Amino acid sequence: TGETHSGRGEPALEAIGIGKTFATTPILKGIDLRIAPGEVVALLGPSGCGKTTLLRIAAGLLAPSAGRMRIAGQLVADGAHHALAPEARGIGMVFQDYALWPHLNTLANVAFPLRMRGLPKAERNKRAHDALARVGLADMAERFPGTLSGGQQQRVALARAIVAEPPLVLFDEPLSNLDRELRESLALEMGTLLRELNLSAVYVTHDQAEAFTIANRVAVMLGGEIAQIATPEALFSDPATPEVAQFLNIGALIDGEIRAREFRCHGRMVRVTAPGEDHADGPARLLIPRTAIARSDHGPLKARVARCQFQGDRYLLHLDFGEGDRSLVCPSDSPVAQGEMISLALNATRLRLFAHA
Ligand code: ATP
Repeated sequence: TGETHSGRGEPALEAIGIGKTFATTPILKGIDLRIAPGEVVALLGPSGCGKTTLLRIAAGLLAPSAGRMRIAGQLVADGAHHALAPEARGIGMVFQDYALWPHLNTLANVAFPLRMRGLPKAERNKRAHDALARVGLADMAERFPGTLSGGQQQRVALARAIVAEPPLVLFDEPLSNLDRELRESLALEMGTLLRELNLSAVYVTHDQAEAFTIANRVAVMLGGEIAQIATPEALFSDPATPEVAQFLNIGALIDGEIRAREFRCHGRMVRVTAPGEDHADGPARLLIPRTAIARSDHGPLKARVARCQFQGDRYLLHLDFGEGDRSLVCPSDSPVAQGEMISLALNATRLRLFAHA
């Protein structure tokens, strides 16, 4: 079998050096990404980082300027010269607002992609029923989208995306237009469902909690590059760069320098033994994750309380370590006056040090 064969053992998606330039502006800069069968990868990043552009390239709606892409082993894009048409890629898609046909009932909505492929009616209805059963909506086949809840509509959209057994499903911020509470509960439901269905998927979102709930691995995209791809836990315990730590809001980043294995902040409020391997003397940034600190009267770390916020069951102290805006929050059982200095205990194993570039 040649270059275009496809199979279930192949990566569901493989991107090699994908670049995209609009006019003269590079938007994607050499994206490498491999998604294993049954894996859900979230593309997480701020607005404008290129998530949607990468998803559109995978969907075939856009050709890359450089690089190759394979879906289940099949070459779907090779620079700007070769592109397989979207409908020939056999992928499923779930969009914002689900894009269900209001005048078609649930069964007809789900069967729609099979109708486009020219399957006979009995066959498409059987497969649409199966897909509805897989998302737990077997008894909703006759209902119209307008009579379903948001969560049910989402599951119909998912059933439609998987009805043709695609090797890959693309999700384009499907929950972004919903209010926070609904988004959280639907993300939880979607995450569970994707695992049960064993789907391979790319899930675009700018919501960290949603990405962490839904994906096995999260690709943090910053400025047209994948800054890091890892499990949510690994991103938090070992962010690759200060920018990743900052985007994920892991904790406070403090500029300072290392001298004789000790990190010192110029404001002189932070002075800790440099964590990890030997570090050369010189400028550095220290990451203090929120999870690394706790109030303790005789702790080695000093911080000024910038704000004390009552939260019902406890107080949250917004802490300032010296220069600029690098606040960190820390829970406290009792209130502390603004401007007061407090001491903190440090879990040194959770600190991370980045040499200055
Ligand atoms: P968002 O979360 O806001 O959708 P995103 O990470 O998905 O952001 P993209 O939609 O991929 O970002 O866009 C990345 C950049 O590329 C943006 O600066 C955007 O303005 C630009 N861009 C996207 N499509 C085009 C186009 N067709 N022509 C020119 N520039 C474009």
